[in-house]
Amino acid sequence: MFNQFDSLPPALLDARSEDLLEILQRPTLLHLPGRTAQPLFVCTLLHGNETTGFYALQNILRRHHAQGLPRALSIFFGNVEAAATGQRRLDHQPDYNRVWPGTAHSQCIETDIMATVTGIMRARKPFASIDIHNNTGRNPHYACVNILSAHSLQIAAMFSDITVYFTNPKGVQSAAFADFCPAVVLECGQSGDNDSVDHATAYLERLLQLRHIPADNPQNLCLYHTVARVSIAERFSIGDGTQHDIRLRTDLEDRNFTELPAGTTFARIKPDTDANVQVHNESNEDVTGEFIECRHDRLLLKKPVTLSMYTSDERAIRQDCLCYFMERLHFHR
Ligand SMILES: [Zn+2]
Repeated sequence: MFNQFDSLPPALLDARSEDLLEILQRPTLLHLPGRTAQPLFVCTLLHGNETTGFYALQNILRRHHAQGLPRALSIFFGNVEAAATGQRRLDHQPDYNRVWPGTAHSQCIETDIMATVTGIMRARKPFASIDIHNNTGRNPHYACVNILSAHSLQIAAMFSDITVYFTNPKGVQSAAFADFCPAVVLECGQSGDNDSVDHATAYLERLLQLRHIPADNPQNLCLYHTVARVSIAERFSIGDGTQHDIRLRTDLEDRNFTELPAGTTFARIKPDTDANVQVHNESNEDVTGEFIECRHDRLLLKKPVTLSMYTSDERAIRQDCLCYFMERLHFHR
């Protein structure tokens, strides 16, 4: 179902993310030794079109190839099949970041693989777990955590002064690993950006050199809590013409992580239809009416919200969601 290797396939050092399918054939867990034995775990390409993590790891592997790593490193290369064609996932596949232990997905090959990888890594007692992603829309770099532990928040704060806390969707890698080690997700902006690769590389280097993670809460962290997920039902068409059921505002892609006031036009709809977005809270209850008011041809925000991961890209919306609504958490008072 997946490979487990104890040495680096040399071709990885110069591969492009599209080449990994040919080199690895399937998802691969790679264990590399280092001067400190407790491994750092890094997950990459759970979404095949999010390549920043892979190229950052490649930088790290090249840099330490001759002298050896400062700390042992276990890497999981996820959806190499989708990476071959630059897609988040293929149509016949589940989302590789929704099938980890704790998932709501029914049992399948991928849930078995992720459960096995989790078991193997749990036994190796990782120093920390880092899962590296990109966004489709424009967002600042930020980290996500699934529990508010000081250790997880510390490694989140080492990446960005913005951290998002979420407990839904279920079945994400970071939540599964948060059971037994500090775990974060890095959201490194849009894929293909060299500055993002540099940022992720510097971050991984710092973690590999770090002896221990401070045990107190980080100061000055801007912490958000995801309160709802916004999606669009299949039956509604999305586009920018009046014939479409829902017309999205592309300019909102530049408003991720800024608060939108109540009364903001969130989208336009075909007048006098039931076209609407769907808003679900962290318990997966439909709370659309709490956040959205339909008025003639507009969907208006009923209360102030901060967006993350807003995208107007239809394929990204259909495969995942339109955005998340967040509120600020004041943790240090
Ligand atoms: Zn992703």
